[in-house]
Amino acid sequence: MKPDKLKCKCIYLAIAYMPAFGSESQRMTCPHCQANISTEVKSEANIKTHAFALALCVFGLWCFVCCPYCMDSCLTKKHYCPNCNAYLGEQS
Ligand SMILES: [Zn+2]
Repeated sequence: MKPDKLKCKCIYLAIAYMPAFGSESQRMTCPHCQANISTEVKSEANIKTHAFALALCVFGLWCFVCCPYCMDSCLTKKHYCPNCNAYLGEQS
């Protein structure tokens, strides 16, 4: 294999395996099934969400405890492949 070809392959792998995920679905090649896909975005609670909910409890704001779980900014956007359901990454 020529060095140039190897370099191209490395760049391709870097793009395929480490895409910068945002909050929106994005087009990419799935590193698991190699299909050309638009990622499926799911909002999931993270440690920050639970910490925020706990803080609301501590301050006696019981009726607002569910708010962090409904607020997009408190949730992590996780990207999955709609073809093979593989986890691809999350919003950083
Ligand atoms: Zn896939």
